[in-house]
Amino acid sequence: MALLQISEPGMSPEPHQRRLAVGIDLGTTNSLVAAVRSSLPEVLEDEHRHALLPSVVAYGNDERITVGAEAAARAIADPHNTIVSVKRFMGRGIDDARRHRTAYRFTDAPGMVRIQTRAGDKSPVEVSSEILKVLRRRAEMSLGGELYGAVITVPAYFDDAQRQATKDAARLAGIEVLRLLNEPTAAAIAYGLDNGTEGRVVVFDLGGGTFDVSVLHLSRGVFEVVATGGDSALGGDDFDRRIVEWALRETGLVQAAEPDPIGSALSAGSLSAADLRAMTVEARRAKEALSDSTLTTFSCPLSDSSAVRLPLARERFDAITADLVSRTITVVRRTLRDARIDATDAGSVVLVGGATRMPATRAAVASFFGRPALSNIDPDRVVAIGAAMQANLLAGNRREGDDWLLLDVIPLSLGLETMGGLVEKIVPRNSTIPVARAQEFTTFRDGQTALAIHVVQGERELVSDCRSLARFELRGIPPMSAGAARIRVSFQVDADGLLSVTACEQSSGVKASVAVRPSYGLSDDEIANMLQQSFSSASADRDARALREQQVEADRLYEATRSALDVDADLLTESERAVVESLLARLRETRLGTDTDAIRHAVDALARGTEHFASRRMDRAISKALAGRRIDQID
Ligand code: AMP
Repeated sequence: MALLQISEPGMSPEPHQRRLAVGIDLGTTNSLVAAVRSSLPEVLEDEHRHALLPSVVAYGNDERITVGAEAAARAIADPHNTIVSVKRFMGRGIDDARRHRTAYRFTDAPGMVRIQTRAGDKSPVEVSSEILKVLRRRAEMSLGGELYGAVITVPAYFDDAQRQATKDAARLAGIEVLRLLNEPTAAAIAYGLDNGTEGRVVVFDLGGGTFDVSVLHLSRGVFEVVATGGDSALGGDDFDRRIVEWALRETGLVQAAEPDPIGSALSAGSLSAADLRAMTVEARRAKEALSDSTLTTFSCPLSDSSAVRLPLARERFDAITADLVSRTITVVRRTLRDARIDATDAGSVVLVGGATRMPATRAAVASFFGRPALSNIDPDRVVAIGAAMQANLLAGNRREGDDWLLLDVIPLSLGLETMGGLVEKIVPRNSTIPVARAQEFTTFRDGQTALAIHVVQGERELVSDCRSLARFELRGIPPMSAGAARIRVSFQVDADGLLSVTACEQSSGVKASVAVRPSYGLSDDEIANMLQQSFSSASADRDARALREQQVEADRLYEATRSALDVDADLLTESERAVVESLLARLRETRLGTDTDAIRHAVDALARGTEHFASRRMDRAISKALAGRRIDQID
């Protein structure tokens, strides 16, 4: 019989017990899980010694859900029930999902699209959770215990909705999320760059289907994402396609001058869809072989029992893909320009993604930056490894001296809509998270008992140029005169960049709050553009803001004067009243235009023209307050 150790209440079973924490790279094509063991980070493998788990989920006939390579093998035979690249749909509405060319049938659902499968409508969160469950099981088997938590990586350009969806998927998989971490930040951590001095890090991430560039700024242990760029339709797959096109031309299956060899071979019937698939698989193998050797043979049997067999030298491969490589450098150049830095300002350059193994890509990056990029960590694993290192720290498994903790920042400012469609920024962009900020607001109208709160995200001055995140109402404000209520609005962003907003009227304590489940529907490019536009529109925005502020002031004064006239018009003589009325009319008229100075003058004129009226009203209010009271009762 085994003897079980029983720990005494209040005593920890082992003084230095490690908490099992992992890093998860939940990728579009492949996912990985990594952990720090004996002080070294490593990617965890399955029982077949495979580290990469294809991010594919298949819903089978027998209610069986399969994930990974087995599921990927069914993608062609059963496309509707085999979900690939689900990451593209996380936190997205139906319009976004339809922009991707896929075989799926979508169902519109509040918040996020659903994918129709034989097992019912599945949200991208549920599909992702199946991938995460497999990774969790793998981690628990390898590490021999229950997981304490995980750091999960997300692209730097993921918005709140996509981040929230990722967290929900983890929760559904029974994983406690210690932190969501930006993928480029994770790669920089893997190289230990967070321990370094201040400076810029450029992360060059060329995967199978997408290309991302991020510029990070490290300052006092905090990574800030300064700029992101990329091309969501450029990756290793395009290099494979070039090899297939080359093979079709070389074998004479299509004319050498044909601009679209694959399309024309398919439509002419000289190439079947199965042949194309076989050639694409062989092209990928040949491409990968050319990263290690200078010559390979492209060899592929075709369905009509013939075969294509062609020698392919690295030089030739480089020549037929040179324009793809230069496209990556063009994107890098543009992203550095957005970040307002030169190639020489980049302290380190980090390579991520399997396709960065291609020697021509590495050479192009090295020549652009004037020095080789960091590449000694496997570019497929570097993100998971960085996440594992971060998870290890967050779980409290620090060694002596490891007292630093990486913080992340919010990518776009968070604020509120104020009168006139203006944005009041409450949490500025690049604030380190977690963060809490509050600001006081007041009512605009006498007796106002409700306040509509509109939470927005973005850098621009006008609400219409920012992204709407949430709307809610604070009701039950005690009626007071305009400007008397004090409403404190607090923003709280947790460690994962998720926001909750609370509004509280200070005298009565009435409260309302919202956890931001943002309205969906912004594409990655649009998010990047929002940042870009805020730089280029700064001066136009300032003018627009000045105009709106003046308009709001005009409205406020107009309203206040009108309600004063309603109550105390008898304090004015006929002719005085006529003057005030004409000043009001002038204000109303200029308010309709866009001449900020003219509105300001009309506001000033009305303010001056009603000074005597205001002082008479004051006298009346005081004498009312004092009526019937003796001098010793007045405090
Ligand atoms: P990822 O999405 O990061 O897993 O990258 C996958 C892409 O990297 C695919 O296009 C692969 O063909 C490519 N890749 C993987 N290994 C190599 C290699 N040794 N040489 C060139 N490309 C590679």
